[in-house]
Amino acid sequence: MFSKIIAQEKINKVEDLIDKAEKVVIVTHVSPDGDAIGSSLGLYHYLQDSGIETTIIVPNEFPYFLKWMSGAKDVLIYEKYADFAAKLIEEADLIFCLDFNVLSRIKRVGELVKESKAKKVLVDHHPDPDAFCDVTISHPEISSTCELVFRLICRMGDFEHMSKASAEAIYTGMMTDTGAFTYNSNSPEIYYIIGQLLLKGIDKDYIYSKVYHSYTPDRFRLMGLMLSERMKIYEEYGTALIWLDKKDQDRFHSQKGDTEGFANLPLNISGITFSVFLRQDQEKDMIKISLRSQGTFPCNTFAAQCFNGGGHLNASGGEYYGPLSDAIDLFEKTLDEYAELLINNKNNLDKK
Ligand code: 5GP
Ligand code: MN
Repeated sequence: MFSKIIAQEKINKVEDLIDKAEKVVIVTHVSPDGDAIGSSLGLYHYLQDSGIETTIIVPNEFPYFLKWMSGAKDVLIYEKYADFAAKLIEEADLIFCLDFNVLSRIKRVGELVKESKAKKVLVDHHPDPDAFCDVTISHPEISSTCELVFRLICRMGDFEHMSKASAEAIYTGMMTDTGAFTYNSNSPEIYYIIGQLLLKGIDKDYIYSKVYHSYTPDRFRLMGLMLSERMKIYEEYGTALIWLDKKDQDRFHSQKGDTEGFANLPLNISGITFSVFLRQDQEKDMIKISLRSQGTFPCNTFAAQCFNGGGHLNASGGEYYGPLSDAIDLFEKTLDEYAELLINNKNNLDKK
C-alpha cells in the first residue's frame, strides 16, 4: 500500500463530481510533454471505461514519440480545431486541469476554461497553483501528475477497473518526468506504484523504447551541432548554456519534440549543475527557455525572474520575446546575480 497523500475530502468531492458528470473535458499545458499526455490519457481511459464521454484538449501539437499511446489519436488539438474545442469546453459539466498550475499555461484555452460553467478539478505537481478550480489537488512533492492520477483512481477504489491502456499512459509520464527515474525519484512509493502498473500488464521496456528510441538521424545531427558549436561553459558557476536558432533547426528539419531532452545534456558534464537551453521558436517570434539544475539551485526562481516562467526547483521553463542575442545577454546578466547560490550549490554537490 501507499500513504494517503491526497486528502480524503478531495477524493470524495472528485468522486461526487464524476458521478454527476456526463461530459468531461481534460485539458493540459501548451507543448504537452510525456506527463501532460500520459496523465490526460490515464484519466481519459478510466473515465471512458466508466461510460463517461470524455475528450482531451491540448493547446497545440505534441511530440511524435508520444503518439503510440492508446487514445493519442483522439486528442483534440485546439490550434487545429478551435471552434470544436470551444464548444466542448462550453458544454462540459466537468473539466480536469492536469499538469499545470495557472491558466496562462494553457494559452487561449485558458480563457475558455475560465468562462465555462463546468465544475473544475486541478491535479498537478507545480508549486503555487492559482485558485481557479473547485477542487485543487496540488502536490509539488510528487514527481509527476501521472502518479497523482494513479493515486486518485486507486483512492476512489477503482484500481481493479484500471485498464492496461490507462496504466501504460500513467507509467509513461512517471518515466518522462523523472528522466526515466534518474531524478526526483527516490520515493519508495514510486516503485510500489510501478509494481502495481506491471500487474496491469504494461511492458516498461517497450514503453522506454517507444519514447527514447524513436528519434530521427536529423535529431542527432542537430544535437551534434549544438554540443560542438552552440555551447558555452561558465566553469566557476558550474553552468552551461546551449542554444539553437531557427536556421539551425530548419537545417536539420527539426520537428516538434526533436529538442526534447536537450536541456538535460550538459548536466552530464562533470561539475555542471545548472543548464540552460535557449531555442528560437520556428513559428513564433519567441525564444523558448528550458532550465535544469542539480541539488538545490532553484531553476524556477531564475526562470520567473528573467523569462516570465516557472516550474519546478530542478526543471523549469519560460519565454522571451526578442532576439536570441538579447536573451543570452539577459541570461548572463542574471547569472552573475545568482553567483553565490550557484557556487554554494556546486560546492555542496562536489562534497557529496
Ligand atoms: P520544459 O523545459 O521541459 O519545457 O519544461 C520544464 C518544466 O518547466 C515544465 O514541467 C513546466 O512546469 C515548466 N515550464 C516550461 N515552460 C514554462 C513557461 O513558459 N512558464 C511556466 N510558468 N512554466 C514553464
Ligand atoms: Mn509534470
